[in-house]
Amino acid sequence: MEKVSEEERDKPPSRGGAAVLEVASEPQTERAEWDSWQWQLAHAVRKTEDLRQYLNLSPEEEAILRSVESVYPIMATPYYLSLIDPYDPNDPVRKQVIPSPEELGQHACEDPLDEEKDSPVPGLTHRYPDRVLVVVTNFCPVWCRHCTRKRLWKHHACKRAYTLRNLPAMLDYIRAHPEIRDVILSGGDPLTLPTPTLERILAQLRAIPHVEIIRIGSRVPVTLPQRLWDEQLLSVLDRYGPIWVNTHFNHPKEITPEAARAVDNLLRAGVPVNNQSVLLAGVNDDVRVMRELMTGLIRIKVRPYYLYHCDPAQGVMHFRTSLTKGLEIMEGLRGHVSGLAVPTYVVDAPGGAGKIPVMPNYMVSWAEDGVVLRNYEGILVKYNPKGNGMTGKTKPTSVSELLGTGGALVPEGNPRMERRKGRQAH
Ligand SMILES: *Cc1c(COP(=O)(O)O)cnc(C)c1O
Repeated sequence: MEKVSEEERDKPPSRGGAAVLEVASEPQTERAEWDSWQWQLAHAVRKTEDLRQYLNLSPEEEAILRSVESVYPIMATPYYLSLIDPYDPNDPVRKQVIPSPEELGQHACEDPLDEEKDSPVPGLTHRYPDRVLVVVTNFCPVWCRHCTRKRLWKHHACKRAYTLRNLPAMLDYIRAHPEIRDVILSGGDPLTLPTPTLERILAQLRAIPHVEIIRIGSRVPVTLPQRLWDEQLLSVLDRYGPIWVNTHFNHPKEITPEAARAVDNLLRAGVPVNNQSVLLAGVNDDVRVMRELMTGLIRIKVRPYYLYHCDPAQGVMHFRTSLTKGLEIMEGLRGHVSGLAVPTYVVDAPGGAGKIPVMPNYMVSWAEDGVVLRNYEGILVKYNPKGNGMTGKTKPTSVSELLGTGGALVPEGNPRMERRKGRQAH
């Protein structure tokens, strides 16, 4: 039943003529077509001029976009483009998918994470002791402007180096390394592979006794949720479990009924869904936006897993923020919203050093028999980790002196303390 083969997908899409006009505001297309992932892929926008149906672009803007497109092309599904407010130049979805002149003229690494140096066979990265990452396709339904593998876009002509051709060698490597218990399918977007191809890969991995879990890194729930309404695909994912999907929501606008349905289908197939966001300037570098994103995700039963600091990849530098911004966001989440909604903030360090967690500091002072901690409200608390919870002696001069003989120092007007006063009045 697969309608789009790998070769077909790499051909320019056959346009549906006037069928997609005004699709952004009000789909003129038949609902059934719009809801079909094959239709969405066949009508994906790959050229600046095709954006006219979705955005109001001046001729000057079009010229700029065309110059960027010649280096880093456009790719976007009608569904994902329809989330953009065409009148908002700073729309957070627009920033993730529409080229920006800032992408050009940057001086940075092509492969900041040294994925290729940690690659014993092409397409496979073995960095951590018990898990490997394998690139099984280069194809994505949406090409994110902040893509950390943007270097591969330029090698589109020689994409074979990164696709299924490498699969036999990658599988041999995994078979020969019994310490590998976790295989991450990455890309590109592995869920864009034809279902039988994906099934073949999963079956071969499952046949390796030491492979305990398979993860799939896919943005399909965000960019092409219709793919996960496909019963055939869902039954394959069900059959070859335990499979975990790590997806990539970056903004609350992306949490749509369509995305929720995609996630629900995965969960029904026994696939837990976790999220890896990237901290992006102008998209989500804001405490309120992040709270809305993370709490929105747990509402659709997606667990926030990582918040990545944006990698220093060429063509992506304009999305980078300070580490302070990330820490401010983490402080704004922990304690303020459900603990389930708090991801781990990580920097993927250069030279293949891998993901390193960074956290606000909650330990303010320490001594053998007592430490000073601070909570999310800014309250300083003495804590004796081995004792009875009361404080012992602390260092002669330290932050704990601020607390005097009391156990805590509370900022004025603390809402929780105000609530306690209300309680006493009863
Ligand atoms: C991120 C990553 C992993 C997985 O890391 P976890 O912390 O287990 O999620 C594995 N291999 C590579 C090369 C990675 O970049």
